[in-house]
Amino acid sequence: VLSCIPGRTNLCSNHSVTTPIDLPPDIRSSLDSLDLEGYISFNDVHNASKDFGNRYQLPPLAILHPRSVSDISTMVRRIVHLGSTSNLTVAARGHGHSLQGQALAHQGVVINMESLRSPDIKIHKGKQPYVDVSGGESWINILRETLKYGLSPKSWTDYLHLTVGGTLSNAGISGQAFKYGPQINNVCQLEIVTGKGEVMTCSEKQNSELFYSVLGGLGQFGIITRARIALGPAPHMVKWIRVLYSDFSAFSRDQEHLITKKNGFDYVEGFVTVNRTDLLDNWRSSFSPNDSIGASQFKSEGKTLYCLEIVKYFNTEEVNSVPQERFPLQETEKLLSELSYIPSTLFSSEVPYIEFLDRVHIAEIKLRAKGLWEVPHPWLNLLIPKSSIFEFATEVFNNILTSNNNGPILIYPVNQSKWNKHTSLITPDEDIFYLYLLRQNQRVLNFCSATNINVKQYLPHYETQREWRSHFGNRWETFAKRKHTYDPLAILAPGHRIFQKAT
Ligand code: FAD
Repeated sequence: VLSCIPGRTNLCSNHSVTTPIDLPPDIRSSLDSLDLEGYISFNDVHNASKDFGNRYQLPPLAILHPRSVSDISTMVRRIVHLGSTSNLTVAARGHGHSLQGQALAHQGVVINMESLRSPDIKIHKGKQPYVDVSGGESWINILRETLKYGLSPKSWTDYLHLTVGGTLSNAGISGQAFKYGPQINNVCQLEIVTGKGEVMTCSEKQNSELFYSVLGGLGQFGIITRARIALGPAPHMVKWIRVLYSDFSAFSRDQEHLITKKNGFDYVEGFVTVNRTDLLDNWRSSFSPNDSIGASQFKSEGKTLYCLEIVKYFNTEEVNSVPQERFPLQETEKLLSELSYIPSTLFSSEVPYIEFLDRVHIAEIKLRAKGLWEVPHPWLNLLIPKSSIFEFATEVFNNILTSNNNGPILIYPVNQSKWNKHTSLITPDEDIFYLYLLRQNQRVLNFCSATNINVKQYLPHYETQREWRSHFGNRWETFAKRKHTYDPLAILAPGHRIFQKAT
């Protein structure tokens, strides 16, 4: 769903620096002389100068392609050693799916985490199964591997071609987060190279301050080189359901009902459509209507509609051992009977678990074929407190978004009571809050600011330290103190522009 948002903003010229920088010969030879298992490249920096957002173009001086943790530690130590005689900073780069230059290191060193292939994906079965993976591993590879053992990570992002280090530096939120918390809640242990070049293992019990700093820490405290991710049993299939509402209150009431329910759905999300023509007809390619005639008579154009998207996991064995029509239909029908959607808009399908989880990749392939994947993506992600969601929705959906130019807009609640409060992630100060994503719209931010709706940006982007301080609020001091402890020269993740390397 996220990937269907082609942006139209031109590349911001003030964020583009394309002129090659002459690398002082002593710095180059200092980096060149490093004893590495991988290699360092001073050419081909073009790809590492941009990200998915495609709004910033800031070339690094060099790219490290590490083969081992020691390569990363060696590089960081050398930059620490050069100290203020160089401007060098370091950005770990997963797949560069950031939006506003967060994975870039202008005139610095980008570490291509994908080339760190150790450890291999290693699955540990048992009572509390887990998988050990490299920080540069992508989630789709982890899913494919764990499924061979009937296991799977529990919490996801909507798009799986992201890396472990990249999503754990943010949070990793999707429709399972109400149940299991975000991905940062499902990590047992990490191996980190700090901003001093030390290699440290950390968990809830060992070096816990570092562990919680790094989770949701925007790459500020260390580079994740290995992660141990908790696993659970993987279902074979999912029942995937969409229903529409014309009334936001009914929609959000049902969403909140579902995320607080025991034994309810396994995934709860939602999106908004504004004045879409033939919405239900378009669904027919992948979903079947419950009431075919009613669905064909339903008109979506000219309306603002709220789509609840829900999923129930099930196993094919259970379908076979119980009469097919009773499971999972019986369970989902009972859950659906508690909701107040427009009856003729009920659509559903049954697909393998992996096909459901990897759904955005299908959209990616289509968009790539049309040249619409690598366009600017000025997306805005907000976490909105439940107490303000009605006021927010009324203004944004009735007055600000009057056409569908913004593409699909995600909106769904998560239940923070299950989330770990010790991580670096900043959320609104309420138990339930909504994740909201749309094409960047300054008017939305202006409205929140004018009405004092205490939103927090997810995948945050600010230009000044004053704005960062306000984002962190009373947790700023802790964040800054942790930075001083683990990365005192402010070498790491310069693309967020939170701290400046002392020169
Ligand atoms: P990068 O963009 O390469 O890096 C992100 C940040 O993490 C940078 O600051 C980088 O320096 C740092 N970093 C990268 N690797 C490491 C490492 N090993 N150690 C320490 N720091 C590191 N997010 C969600 O939560 N939910 C979603 O449903 C979701 N859907 C998405 C759909 C699409 C199509 C896209 C493009 C993004 C989506 N995201 C979603 C956002 C995603 O979580 C971020 O883009 C995130 O940055 C992961 O991308 P990446 O792995 O390419 O990391």
